[in-house]
Amino acid sequence: MASTAARTEQLSYREARERVMAAVRPLQPENIAVAEARGRALRRRVIASHPLPPFRNSSMDGFAVLAADLERASAQSPATLPVVEVIAAGHTPSRPLGKGEAMRIMTGAMLPEGADAVVPVEDAEAIRSPEGRERVHFARPARPGLNVREAGLDLASGAVALEEGRELSAHDLALLVSLGETKVPVGPRVSAAVLSTGDELLEVDEPLKPGAIRDSNRPMLGALLEECGARVVTSRRLPDDPARVAENMKKLLEVADVVITVGGVSAGEFDPVKLALPEVGEIGLWRVAMKPGRPQAFGTPRGRLYFGLPGNPASVACVFEALVRPALRKLQGFAVLDRPRLPVRAAARIESRAGRVDFVRVTLERRGDAFWATPAGDQTSGHVAPQARAHALLVVPEETAALEEGQAADALLLRWPEAGPS
Ligand code: AMP
Ligand code: MG
Repeated sequence: MASTAARTEQLSYREARERVMAAVRPLQPENIAVAEARGRALRRRVIASHPLPPFRNSSMDGFAVLAADLERASAQSPATLPVVEVIAAGHTPSRPLGKGEAMRIMTGAMLPEGADAVVPVEDAEAIRSPEGRERVHFARPARPGLNVREAGLDLASGAVALEEGRELSAHDLALLVSLGETKVPVGPRVSAAVLSTGDELLEVDEPLKPGAIRDSNRPMLGALLEECGARVVTSRRLPDDPARVAENMKKLLEVADVVITVGGVSAGEFDPVKLALPEVGEIGLWRVAMKPGRPQAFGTPRGRLYFGLPGNPASVACVFEALVRPALRKLQGFAVLDRPRLPVRAAARIESRAGRVDFVRVTLERRGDAFWATPAGDQTSGHVAPQARAHALLVVPEETAALEEGQAADALLLRWPEAGPS
């Protein structure tokens, strides 16, 4: 074990983010069934190989007609046409519609050639003769194109259906399947390993004892990782023992694309991650001008991504949003890397400091057209309750010393404020 810790660099948040993003190369895409692809990053632009709908069809149950045949129809003098065929969905008309004829047609069925409008059943009166022949009366004219869905009206052949980098939604799957796409190339799920450090940490089911707290960062990180597409392959807790931390980090770097350690990177005398780094290699210690979350480590040892997060829960949560999430999203090939950015206004003066970016845990309240942000309690980085209460992280930019009441800023939306009890 090397006894000297790595040199600590001072970086602005922008510099740190640029370095992290420059180190991330998107992973090779994998082809998966469309039905399994929700939430994944689409890795090629999808072009419509045929029009949608693929054929001209009816949007109503009714009668396919030639609008010109109904031109003079009125309640006093209805147009009366013989019904020459019934076209069900999934079937094709046996022949074109002749002038002076009607065909019964179901929603989604192919329009016969020669027809240019569909009169809904409720606007027509069908009468069957004793011999079984059907005729239909129309008391009004029909506009050409009425209830007709033209081929390609939904999406033209050759049009862009979905752009590369898109996070596939349930609705996107419907579009892909409509176009006959069976498999799509998507970003693979990133494998991630989490290692928390601290002699003071307990498992959730252990009784509290003096000086000890529960390891809350590991389940939070596991959930955050899963939420942004990663698969947690290992999540482990270690005591403040640099040798064990080094040994575990090396092992985890063999099995995971991304390794995250929690705690032990700051100025404490027993900070085990800091002491383990020289052994693991290609990792730098950083002081990033952000609050919370200043002391960090980052590197690409063995071609993997490594993040050394500080231990305080709010720091873990903020550095995750500020650096880890965008990196994980880029690895998978997403075009959008961050949480949604919502323009908000400060509901009260919010202290910060020029020269660093503050991530303030805030609740949001809608007043008229705007969302107003209020700090969700004390911003101490050791607190867990304000983090749970927060709807968003308000970003106070580096050049801003404080936000005055009413001043505009952006917030990274963690959850929609109007979605239920706070
Ligand atoms: P450290 O960065 O190791 O100095 O830890 C900073 C603070 O975060 C200390 O108060 C730790 O007890 C706390 N802490 C570290 N790791 C965790 C964890 N996994 N869960 C909850 N609190 C933690
Ligand atoms: Mg510690």
